[in-house]
Amino acid sequence: MRLMKMRFMKSRTLSTVAAALLTLVALSRAETKVVVAHSDNDTAAAGFRFVNVPAPAKRDAATEAQFAVVEGEPDPNGGGLAALHDGRFPMEEDQPSENFFFKPNTDGGRLVIDLGAVIEVQQVNTYSWHPGARGPQVYKLWASDGSGLGFNSRPKRGTDPEACGWRSVANVDTRPRQEEMGGQYGVSVLSSEGVLGKYRYLLLDISRTEDKDGFGNTFYSGICVIDRNASPAEVLEMASSNVAVERLELEGGKYHITLNTTETPDLTAWAHESLAPVVKEWYPKIVELLPSEGFEAPTNISIVFSQNMRGVAATGGTRIRCAASWFRENLKGEAVGSVVHELVHVAQQYGRARRSASATTPGWVVEGIADYIRWFKYEPQSQGARITKRNIARARYDASYRITAAFLDWVAEKHDKSIFMQLNAAAREGKYSEELWKKFAGKTVQELGEDWKKEMEANAEKEPTQ
Ligand SMILES: [Zn+2]
Repeated sequence: MRLMKMRFMKSRTLSTVAAALLTLVALSRAETKVVVAHSDNDTAAAGFRFVNVPAPAKRDAATEAQFAVVEGEPDPNGGGLAALHDGRFPMEEDQPSENFFFKPNTDGGRLVIDLGAVIEVQQVNTYSWHPGARGPQVYKLWASDGSGLGFNSRPKRGTDPEACGWRSVANVDTRPRQEEMGGQYGVSVLSSEGVLGKYRYLLLDISRTEDKDGFGNTFYSGICVIDRNASPAEVLEMASSNVAVERLELEGGKYHITLNTTETPDLTAWAHESLAPVVKEWYPKIVELLPSEGFEAPTNISIVFSQNMRGVAATGGTRIRCAASWFRENLKGEAVGSVVHELVHVAQQYGRARRSASATTPGWVVEGIADYIRWFKYEPQSQGARITKRNIARARYDASYRITAAFLDWVAEKHDKSIFMQLNAAAREGKYSEELWKKFAGKTVQELGEDWKKEMEANAEKEPTQ
């Protein structure tokens, strides 16, 4: 998480010179502040917790308010306007159904929020999250108590809100200058006087963040309007109060890994007691086992337990997702080891090479290395990858996962201890080729596979029948 600049904007009101002179005195005291917080893709986690912008409130003046689109077309792939004030927030960086956003290839639009009555608005807080250009927020904010002569509660673009009863409150633009645009953003619009004003209506004119492609419309995750007179307890009850994220600091801060069991509170204790110590010990070990020139392993990793995910686990970049239903069944068995396997994928980082692919690494090599480290380095005592009578029929060098892991172990013992490191280093640069086997183990991978299988068959013969 990183602190970003604060921007200040003077409020503008009234039009006559005399009135302007009078308000200047007031303005010098009351300043509208736009506070921006940004967590980049490596650090953003469920809960929208920032140093300088409050986490979303569970209930606030926007919860029961009426939201309406005045201009623009909401994208039906999103969660609609409800996503902006339902007290629920996305758990991950790319969850369309938990966000509101306008259709692709359009330049945003206008939203009106009717709070139902005039209240003393203390803050307007807006939240967004996306890994790419749909992360940052660009909007103009107006407000009104609705009492002005000729007040137009739904001014379309082309109509100047200030000409129909609205007061300009803030210009928000959280786009970073140099850095990547992706990540989680929190914006707090507030006043140095403590109250922005007495308002019933808010108007947001939302712009896209870029027009290089069609996907520049921000994923807005929520809007909170804080009433100065609301009970502090209500405001302080954060929408994220049920967020369960354990942050692990490894090697004196060199690496950070979060364990997120927000969706699966029944796994929080297990993650803390059984998973955390292994993750802490083994991520640095894995990184050490897989060196290559000029390579720096990822330093920020998140492990998220997902209630609805099927299968076992998956890794994308530096995010590991774990299927809760499988883990619940395997807590005493293979659960921890499967996370070790995924941590190897994080350290492999073959994705970078894949993009500029000179050669792609076959899946069986990728999975074989991950399972080799898991079964032969992390938990050799479990013998989980042993070739026996039971699985000898499937013993092919390229059968992937634990079978390829057993093959790699055999090649390491017979020919070259560093074979998995060599394969990894090449794969990471997009330079994997079958030549490598010959270079380091003296034979083609097919020949090695034959030798290995013969030996395994002979061993299996000797096994006592049960
Ligand atoms: Zn895998």
